[in-house]
Amino acid sequence: MSQYILSIDQGTTSSRAILFDLHGNIHAVRQQEFPQHFPDSGWVEHKPADIWSTVQSTCDEVMAEEFGADDEVIAVGIANQRETTIIWDRKTGEPVYNAIVWQDRRTAAYCKTMKSSSHEPAVHSKTGLLIDPYFSATKIRWILENVPGTRERAERGELAFGTVDSFLLWKLTGGQVHRTDATNASRTLLFNIHTQQWDEELLKLFDVPASLLPEVMDSSDDFGKITEGGALNGVSVLGVAGDQQAALFGQTCFKVGMAKSTYGTGCFLMLNTGDKALQSEHRLLTTVAYRLNGKPTYAIEGSIFIAGATIQWLRDGLQLINNASEAEPLAQCTPVDHGVYLVPAFTGLGAPYWDPDARGAIFGLTRDTGIKEIVTAGLQSVCYQTKDLQKAMEKDGIRPITLRVDGGMVKNNWVMQFLADILGATVDRPSLVETTALGVAYLAGLKAGVYGSLEELADLWRCDRRFEPVMSKADRDRLYAGWIQAVHKL
Ligand code: ADP
Repeated sequence: MSQYILSIDQGTTSSRAILFDLHGNIHAVRQQEFPQHFPDSGWVEHKPADIWSTVQSTCDEVMAEEFGADDEVIAVGIANQRETTIIWDRKTGEPVYNAIVWQDRRTAAYCKTMKSSSHEPAVHSKTGLLIDPYFSATKIRWILENVPGTRERAERGELAFGTVDSFLLWKLTGGQVHRTDATNASRTLLFNIHTQQWDEELLKLFDVPASLLPEVMDSSDDFGKITEGGALNGVSVLGVAGDQQAALFGQTCFKVGMAKSTYGTGCFLMLNTGDKALQSEHRLLTTVAYRLNGKPTYAIEGSIFIAGATIQWLRDGLQLINNASEAEPLAQCTPVDHGVYLVPAFTGLGAPYWDPDARGAIFGLTRDTGIKEIVTAGLQSVCYQTKDLQKAMEKDGIRPITLRVDGGMVKNNWVMQFLADILGATVDRPSLVETTALGVAYLAGLKAGVYGSLEELADLWRCDRRFEPVMSKADRDRLYAGWIQAVHKL
């Protein structure tokens, strides 16, 4: 008989179910993509039914095909795409509108008005966030303003709001549980990260009735027993965290100053600041990293919207490469100072610029510029953007003591070496890069008593490869100055 923890990793483009053994090794994975809907310019939606059915079928498959008759799942963890907003009817469980995805910009005009009426400083000091369409509050308000009857139904207490974790908990427990964890709550613009409570003033400001809101739990907590999960029925959900926080936990960045950077579609750099919620003066976000036994640990975060998506664009948009793995050999035979800068501001710029109107550009083209320079510039743009975050952190007086990387892009050794060079810092790649799913398996395992302490978890982290900087400071400064010039030309 073997014991496992099952992690549900509900991401932006796919859902995954991963069985971990109790040493944190992957036993089996099932993954399923689901459709993205773009009903208007800048709008991005998911069908809640697709989110739920892909979670159900990946869990069913992994349990049917990889799970023995004598085996046992002792706990379930949920990691989820953050900020994405769903509102449903408490009686029928029917969503009143599609899920409005974190990338969706439909509330940009409203956010601009809110900013200009100078609400931002107060909102920032309570939530650690900026007023931006990225976060849930203005998405909730949009649904209540635009879907007929929903505001009245919400006022009567008939509707429930949730980020994807809450929606899945509701579904898995047959509507018994309406809960979320503190990391997900901290991304809504409605949660005071200092008091760890939903904030009445913020609810008023964004026109959100309190009756919509879930109960906020620790990240490692008893969220409820599964009744609608097929073979998982009877197992409790004991860990929940937003995907980036889950990755920080999976990378075991438990000490102040430890940071992780995830390179998937976008890039999210998160640094543990311990029990202090540091307020950035340079437009980084302050967020709950995890909450254990009622005690929040905070992080500072830089979000870059386009990282690996640049490589997808080089492949699908420009068709310069056939697949992402062709980028590395091209970069290897290109000098780093080829002079071309690609700024992938396809959907505006995230941290530290927060410019929703910026658009992408390529600078420094000459007659001898070819495919390899443009592809290399695309790879380098991901590293320069990370440097922007590092600089913003430095201006806030923070320097990472370690940087651990994960996500689909980190298998590219050339990118990892250039990253170390341009940051002037050591970059560590773990042997297990499924850190998001691992993070909630650890959170669930802590609650289940499988792991006794954070130190015990930290001992499980293994380095696959360490990248040390070899570039001279003069070269680094010159290359980065070229990037800054390019960004300012946008
Ligand atoms: P997400 O979870 O955001 O969907 P993943 O973590 O799966 O993303 O990472 C996929 C991203 O990594 C894609 O955008 C892809 O372009 C990029 N990628 C994958 N392999 C490579 C590679 N060898 N070199 C550069 N980028 C890569």
